[in-house]
Amino acid sequence: MPRNNRRQPRPRDDDDSPDIANLLTGSRTIQERRNGSWHVQPISERRAERDYVCPGCSVPVAKGTAHVVVWRADGVTGDAGDLASRRHWHTHCWRIGS
Ligand SMILES: [Zn+2]
Repeated sequence: MPRNNRRQPRPRDDDDSPDIANLLTGSRTIQERRNGSWHVQPISERRAERDYVCPGCSVPVAKGTAHVVVWRADGVTGDAGDLASRRHWHTHCWRIGS
């Protein structure tokens, strides 16, 4: 009789969700902007393991490029929702943006 020890598959890694724990313990800062408060987490070259599209300039943030991850800090949609809607920006695009 087969043992019923079917493992739950790990959630598909179709996001960079494994980084969330790091994001929450990393050296992020909170920045105040006209459009709200934002968590800003620097991502080093080594941790930039995927391509992202920068919302500031619509140009991909190439893998291996140091950049920043930004998500809301004013709790409008709750921490989980805020994190889920985080965006990856070129560092300079975020700096000059809005
Ligand atoms: Zn950009």
